Amino acid sequence: MRPPIRLAIAIIGALTLAHALAPARDVRIQDVQDHDVQNHVVRIGVLGLFHPSEFAVSAADGNAVVVHAGQETFVLERSSGVRAAEIRAVAGATVVRVGPRAVHAPALTVTGRTGGPADFLLAIPGKITRRYRGTLELKLASGALVAVVTMDLETAVESVVAAEGLSGAPLEALKAQAVAARSYFAAGKGRHSGFDFCDTTHCQFLREPPVSGAAAEATSATRGLVMISQSQFFAAMYTRSCSGRTRTPVEVGLPPGSYPYYSVDCKYCREHPARWESRISARDAATLRSSNEPARLKIVRRLGWSTAPSNNFTMRKEDDQVILKGIGQGHGIGLCQSGAAAMAKEGANFQQILSHYYPNAAIGSLKRAGGLR
Ligand SMILES: [Zn+2]
Ligand SMILES: [Zn+2]
Repeated sequence: MRPPIRLAIAIIGALTLAHALAPARDVRIQDVQDHDVQNHVVRIGVLGLFHPSEFAVSAADGNAVVVHAGQETFVLERSSGVRAAEIRAVAGATVVRVGPRAVHAPALTVTGRTGGPADFLLAIPGKITRRYRGTLELKLASGALVAVVTMDLETAVESVVAAEGLSGAPLEALKAQAVAARSYFAAGKGRHSGFDFCDTTHCQFLREPPVSGAAAEATSATRGLVMISQSQFFAAMYTRSCSGRTRTPVEVGLPPGSYPYYSVDCKYCREHPARWESRISARDAATLRSSNEPARLKIVRRLGWSTAPSNNFTMRKEDDQVILKGIGQGHGIGLCQSGAAAMAKEGANFQQILSHYYPNAAIGSLKRAGGLR
């Protein structure tokens, strides 16, 4: 006997509700033999935003670094009294000065005593000093000095989680962020010539490796884990705040990429939309359109990120200006950091967060050649 229609609807309703309330199943972790992540290092162009013509390199406390410039080497170590090297671009050449000695060289490298990674400080005098762990290359390109740090993948991931992670986000949300950041490094190379990634939000925002704390913990707890789709790891995109549902790259005018992103509901942003408003000239607004990420990027690179924090907005003309009213922060694709933090606060683990924002993907474990992790 068939149940009355109303009862059938009630059963379906109950099943749907049960499905919605049931904890999401954890994503299966698969092994991925990677061939592309050579030795698990990434080459990051740092401090390029400053177009520097001068750098100072020094050893971090308790460390020694070796500067290799042409045939010359200099050891920098606080206890030896020779602490810093100054590097300048002068008339198309690189000049390295350490104490009274000066050497001309086309490029230079900075390593630890045995040629491997070191903890060092890189400064643009009078502007910024950052600490890095890795090896450093400095060379000239188009009149400016280019600094490239080759660092361990995990060091890069924890540096990004420290810089990009929402402050106060629970550990499980930061673990999801670490997996996304690692996937991006593993699969997203080729965005620059001369190095793999820059240190701005064009690629992933990166400052210093954390000494300890949640970013370091989230990274070590997910060591080697990446997002995979059809047995390939992919450059998992993430955004600070979506507008209640995430977008696909195609929806915002970007190429589709290897993983078919989905538009998923984001309860937190739906209930707590991050609203913004800005005002730009009609001339600047002429090239801007809602749901067009390339057009937004062109404008914000010229006028600053606060001009159009997301690509989801309305435009209203007022005299010779245009008022933009929008929702969200970032491109709106993939993992939503605000939504992930809210999911974690409600008890979701990082696998559940990742499976929500990257449907039909799995979590893979990068293995070093020979099967060692
Ligand atoms: Zn970049
Ligand atoms: Zn969201």
